[in-house]
Amino acid sequence: MREETLCRLCPRSCGALRLPDKAGGFCASPMTMKIARAAVHFGEEPCLCGSRGSGAIFFTGCNLRCVFCQNHEISRSACGSEVSVPGLREIILRLEDEGVHNIDLVTPTHFLPLIAEALSGMHLQIPVVWNSSGYESAEQLRQLEGLIQIYMPDYKYADADLAAGLSFAPDYPQAALSAIREMFRQTGPFVMDENGLLRSGVLIRHLILPGHIENTLRVIDSLEDDLPYKDILFSLLAQYTPIEALIPSLKHYPELCRRVSEEEYQRVMDYLNFSPIEEGYVQELSSAGEEAIPIFDGTGVVK
Ligand code: SF4
Repeated sequence: MREETLCRLCPRSCGALRLPDKAGGFCASPMTMKIARAAVHFGEEPCLCGSRGSGAIFFTGCNLRCVFCQNHEISRSACGSEVSVPGLREIILRLEDEGVHNIDLVTPTHFLPLIAEALSGMHLQIPVVWNSSGYESAEQLRQLEGLIQIYMPDYKYADADLAAGLSFAPDYPQAALSAIREMFRQTGPFVMDENGLLRSGVLIRHLILPGHIENTLRVIDSLEDDLPYKDILFSLLAQYTPIEALIPSLKHYPELCRRVSEEEYQRVMDYLNFSPIEEGYVQELSSAGEEAIPIFDGTGVVK
């Protein structure tokens, strides 16, 4: 067994053997890309969707596996089709031909080297978006320098205990901060074009969780204290929806079996409005609902 075959792609550093035909590690993924959907998508922020949408490529599997995952169908199951490096290039070129504003790589972390290989040498006219959980290795992200124009990481937790309880990742806060700093080092301050479309930069997302408002307030503090917040976009999401299929496994987290309340939402809004953070987006509380989740039926995947 050669050392380089043992996966240390993300902060879990499992050291698992992952081969093209052998899944391994916490992410339970083989070293062959699996994609559940590749299609025009209007579910991202306005600066990415514009009028023609993002070309979203949803990878199967995830290295974080939050207990409340809003995309559990693809993060935990083996759905999706295997796609080779040339196959991914073909998908990307087709989406570009369809006129999308960007290529949106969703949950790509556990396939980073294969995606880097696919993007190398492509001469796209549109930006490529790295749309991730934020639980990533800064060292591994360096492989993407020059290949990714827009990083869109989550910053889910500033509270290590919460990260341990909900995502089995007590080191999430420090890992995410370190990853976001590396992303910013690569892109620099965000740049919008004359049509309000994001051309490059970092856009950080945070999903408000019911019953865990203090965590959200600490994330806002951390943006201000630990990151160049004036040069980064921040998107606050209020769409949390308890997924019907996950409710039995949420019995230890009863607070996650409801939506964010009006009172919780207002408390976060007041805190954010009082902070110096100005650049970005705030989602309406009414955005919650399972209907916003895409259908992962293999649309647009080249085998
Ligand atoms: S990408 Fe998967 S196998 Fe590799 S270190 Fe992370 S969780 Fe483990």
